[in-house]
Amino acid sequence: MTPTNQGSIRLFRVFGITVFLHWSWFVVAVMLYQGSLGVFSETHYSSPIWNIYAYLGLFFIVLLHEFGHSLSCRQVGGQAEQIVLWPLGGVAYVSPPQRPGATLWCIAAGPLVNVALVPIFMLTEKIANGNPAIPHDVVHLVRHLMGINFGLLIFNILPVYPLDGGQILRALLWFAIGPVKSLFAATTVGFVGVAALGALAIYLGHIWIGIMAFFMFVSCRAAWRHARAMSL
Ligand SMILES: [Zn+2]
Repeated sequence: MTPTNQGSIRLFRVFGITVFLHWSWFVVAVMLYQGSLGVFSETHYSSPIWNIYAYLGLFFIVLLHEFGHSLSCRQVGGQAEQIVLWPLGGVAYVSPPQRPGATLWCIAAGPLVNVALVPIFMLTEKIANGNPAIPHDVVHLVRHLMGINFGLLIFNILPVYPLDGGQILRALLWFAIGPVKSLFAATTVGFVGVAALGALAIYLGHIWIGIMAFFMFVSCRAAWRHARAMSL
């Protein structure tokens, strides 16, 4: 149930990878501008337009992360031709060679992009903060994006399939117990994590965490069924 390029706008093509933007992205942008998305809106800005800039910044970070997956997949001889951006993040359609090492590198390269961005943001914030000529909104935007990048990194490395952390767990287990058992193990851990995320969404009354948990459940279940089909 991840988005495809159906109903998506083709943005550009670089390194042989075409980037698409799903229509639902614009719905969320409008909701954000109207202030109906408390989850993302920062109140420190002088105008709501800065939340749109932060939204664009978020997707620039997501895009770099997805390019991390796609380019590393190409590097190890896999296929990666498409990236689709949608409000819940990005999807890099990658198919690495069916080896644990290649899969591990292809998955880990995404979060490693966020790791590389941490010192870049820290340096930018330091420069912007110490310069009186730079408007307050810009300094806030840099801090906002720094927080978003860090949040994305932490969330993505949670060992909950289909998040990157869950796929990294699966690739690591693959070395020891093979492709099928590792997928069973990682998706089983994934179901527990998704259930916890769903409970958290209900506890906090947080619709976005709920939507995220739902899509993760669907994806985790598909992977579990795939593992079952491979084991027959
Ligand atoms: Zn990723």
